[in-house]
Amino acid sequence: MRIDSLFAAARAAGTIPVSFEMFPPKGELTLERARAAAEKLCALKPDFVSVTCSAGGSGNSSATADIAQMISRDFGTSSVAHLTGIGLTHAGLAERIAAYRAAGVENVLALRGDLPQTGDAPSGDFSYAADIIPALVDAGFCVGAAAYPEGHIACDSLAESVRHLKLKQDAGASFLVTQLFFDNDLFYRFRELADAAGITVPITCGIMPFMSKQQVTRMVFMCGASLPSPVIKLLARFEDDPDGLMRAGIDYACDQLVDLAEHGVDGLHVYAMNRPSVARAAMQALRAIGPL
Ligand code: FAD
Repeated sequence: MRIDSLFAAARAAGTIPVSFEMFPPKGELTLERARAAAEKLCALKPDFVSVTCSAGGSGNSSATADIAQMISRDFGTSSVAHLTGIGLTHAGLAERIAAYRAAGVENVLALRGDLPQTGDAPSGDFSYAADIIPALVDAGFCVGAAAYPEGHIACDSLAESVRHLKLKQDAGASFLVTQLFFDNDLFYRFRELADAAGITVPITCGIMPFMSKQQVTRMVFMCGASLPSPVIKLLARFEDDPDGLMRAGIDYACDQLVDLAEHGVDGLHVYAMNRPSVARAAMQALRAIGPL
């Protein structure tokens, strides 16, 4: 199903779509294990599952499309295949579009991808995610894009980041998925700014449970999300108790999801990252407050 239709139907029915994110086979993650993770995620009956891809043409985009197709065809769940434009030429994007179409992909999350760590400017014909969106829309995909409740890490201000987000809607994005955040008030502030900027497409909230101090540190330095003091206190309290910290991270994420649902957000997207236990806990917490 097209994700924009799914959000429109949910809005009409007063429900909140819940989705999960997973990554495709790569390195030690074999196709069989990715398939098993996808099957377990789909068994929890999310509204859709999105599948990441590596930026810079490092080779797993065909796996992204294949897993997205498997999710829809074999497990009866709507899917979204991520696609990064960084490093692609016009011909390369046309090839990627043809491959996604051949795999039966219906929905694409259009991303720029992170810049290379080397500091070199990436080669390729596209500077921003907004630049690849029109070709994807013309090819018949339902296209989504990434949103940053605290502003993108490389952007000078939140106001400017919201202006750049509006360019993605103007280019044809019909739904948005946010970067992770740990403080819901920052999302509510962002939602007001997005409304004021004329962003009308649904914005689904991306939530990622913290699993370890190392993981959370890496994430916040990579994406610039704030760590509120309740999270810092949990990281300190469970410093020597990895299992306790993992449980605290899942509980914290579940509390965030419930609060967001109670504030009537457009959608909830759990960065389950191939961990069905995380997705299951999120679903249980949300179903406990009533039908979504
Ligand atoms: P853009 O929207 O192009 O923005 C990039 C930067 O350029 C921002 O600082 C923005 O403010 C600025 N900008 C935009 N337009 C203009 C303009 N016209 N003039 C000047 N500046 C401008 N990465 C992956 O590699 N694979 C994935 O599967 C993946 N999935 C993701 C899913 C979600 C939900 C999110 C939030 C991120 C994901 N990422 C993924 C990470 C993403 O690639 C990075 O955050 C990347 O740095 C920015 O991507 P973007 O599509 O938001 O870029």
